[in-house]
Amino acid sequence: MLETTIAGSLPKPAWLAEPETLWAAWRFQGEELRRAQERAAAEWLKHQEEAGIDIVADGEQFRIHFVHGFLEHIEGIDWEKKTSMGIRDNRYTVQVPTVTGSVSRPHPVHLDEVRFTRAQTDRKLKFTLPGPMTICDTIADAYYGKRPDMALAFAEILNQEARELSAAGVDVIQFDEPAFNVFMDDVKEWGIAALERASEGLACTTAVHICYGYGITENLRWKESLGSQWRQYEEIFPAINASRIGQVSLECAASRVPPSLMGLLKDKDVLVGAVAVTADRVEAAEEVAATIRTAMKHVDAARLYPCTNCGMAPIPYDIALGKLHSLAAGAALVRNSL
Ligand SMILES: [Zn+2]
Repeated sequence: MLETTIAGSLPKPAWLAEPETLWAAWRFQGEELRRAQERAAAEWLKHQEEAGIDIVADGEQFRIHFVHGFLEHIEGIDWEKKTSMGIRDNRYTVQVPTVTGSVSRPHPVHLDEVRFTRAQTDRKLKFTLPGPMTICDTIADAYYGKRPDMALAFAEILNQEARELSAAGVDVIQFDEPAFNVFMDDVKEWGIAALERASEGLACTTAVHICYGYGITENLRWKESLGSQWRQYEEIFPAINASRIGQVSLECAASRVPPSLMGLLKDKDVLVGAVAVTADRVEAAEEVAATIRTAMKHVDAARLYPCTNCGMAPIPYDIALGKLHSLAAGAALVRNSL
């Protein structure tokens, strides 16, 4: 009970890429890069095991960006044709590549990484993929015309990928959908349908991660604009609870999300964010335990999984490591008191 896990990314070691920088370039190339990524992933798996994390992940050590790491291998995208796009409803303006034809997946994208990672640990293994709606909000479209159509096209290739990763021994496949907290009407109209298409027929556990983003300036400013209570989850959780997805990973620690909103996910496993992903401090275990106890007022302990609020890629390595230890220690405190 109260098995711990992580939302996704972990910091890259300084020898692999510039630390505390989102989307930092690799320090190696080709085969050397692959060996370096494997070493970084193996180190994080060991750290997670030593900290006492139950459901572990590669910390996204094989990709620079949580969306583009997948899209780089997809055909139908023109990486030279950059379009300026205000993503997440204009929270950030970035130059994004453009879809110029029907998208397809000519070969597996993450299979070798998963085979490597699977061989490194006996623990349950989680793997993260970008969700279809978030992909559509991170790439420009000059081909499909309608976002729901492009989302379904991406959902089909995500499903091909997810089936192979599940067959390779992944226990949990999580789709990252930060865009769900921004386009709440679209979630109900087509976002969940696309997510269900991406996760269709998977033998493993399926999850969706919906957060308020990495602890970076643009997101912190956005959060300040959301008022005293963040109620985005309230609009989408009833529809997500009615969906076929198994688990929901959400933000809670140090946020203004009313914990009672977790009560809307009565039929789902809830991955409660019990450590924040900002770099300012490492939570004490007792503080993590308090967050878990609050969540237990709204979710049965049997369905509750203490987790990080989001990925920790942009924060210092040692702080992320400290947070993993606090997360596991806090869960242990609660478990021992039950
Ligand atoms: Zn997140």
